[in-house]
Amino acid sequence: MEQVGGCGGGCGCACASAEGGSRVADDGLCHDWTQAEVEALFALPFNDLMHAAQSLHREFHDANAVQVSTLLSIKTGACPEDCAYCPQSARHDTGLKAEKLMALDEVLVKAQQAKAAGASRFCMGAAWRSPKDRDLAEVNAMVGAVKALGLETCATLGMLTRAQAQSLKDAGLDYYNHNLDTSPEFYGEIISTRCYQDRLDTLAHVREVGMKTCCGGIVGMGETRADRAGFIRALANLPQHPDSVPINRLVRVAGTPLADERDLDAFEFVRTIAVARITMPTSMVRLSAGRESMSDELQALCFLAGANSIFHGDKLLTTGNADTESDRALFAKLGLKPLVAAADSDCAQAA
Ligand code: SF4
Repeated sequence: MEQVGGCGGGCGCACASAEGGSRVADDGLCHDWTQAEVEALFALPFNDLMHAAQSLHREFHDANAVQVSTLLSIKTGACPEDCAYCPQSARHDTGLKAEKLMALDEVLVKAQQAKAAGASRFCMGAAWRSPKDRDLAEVNAMVGAVKALGLETCATLGMLTRAQAQSLKDAGLDYYNHNLDTSPEFYGEIISTRCYQDRLDTLAHVREVGMKTCCGGIVGMGETRADRAGFIRALANLPQHPDSVPINRLVRVAGTPLADERDLDAFEFVRTIAVARITMPTSMVRLSAGRESMSDELQALCFLAGANSIFHGDKLLTTGNADTESDRALFAKLGLKPLVAAADSDCAQAA
């Protein structure tokens, strides 16, 4: 296969800089992908792309293990942000009923159910621009209680200050989800109430306090392939690759500005997963929102392309998800096994 650039050897793709030197950073990974390199990966013949992705996947991961998380909306709707894909924005008339922050005992019941159903991680999502301090105290109590059940914990609560990130870390939170959503160039088409840099700042706070990051985005929002490449590039060029990279396929919701968006071609979705796997070889790549509408065959191609994490349960915050029985049957057909308490997390379609 023609060499298409990549990590300077640490990820196995044997790339080198234009000067011939290694581009591997101290963590053994490449963080300086050019747009042309990522676009070249997208443009590979499909079989070559899948081979490259699966080869790297096997180098860094158990090829037949999939991490399973469950996501619960602990505070639903009435969000002041204007994310064009999101039914929880107060600016879109989607008929969603807003709910206030759940009580601790309700959350614990859901966490126990998730654990009994095989989840190793429990993710809590709240539709806030950023949490207020009194809300954060309640979430911190939830984090401690869920962790005491033996589950890994993840939260997605909007933008955080450094002090808020530290508070969650001190409460025992393992992962924080904050998605970049799309490329820097396309971002303004999707959200106007906060900027790309706001997102990067929150991710920096999370990293600085030592929490693991979960960061990905959504494809199929009307972006171009160059945008998809720019989105993956933005993730792969972060100072640390996200521990978990959720790749969502847009779930169109009536009443949102993207309700009439066209379906993204299935192979293009698989290509996006494969390019994420190649550029971030050690990260867990999560097949997230949109899985409900995917055939078993498409999901199998995504696993082949390097996806190794899913959300389990019939709901992703406010949108539907593949049902648990179908997942069990698919795992059995493919010989996949759930990964017991290992890496990763996320917020499905960002909330
Ligand atoms: S994605 Fe999150 S921040 Fe954006 S509108 Fe939905 S709940 Fe609010």
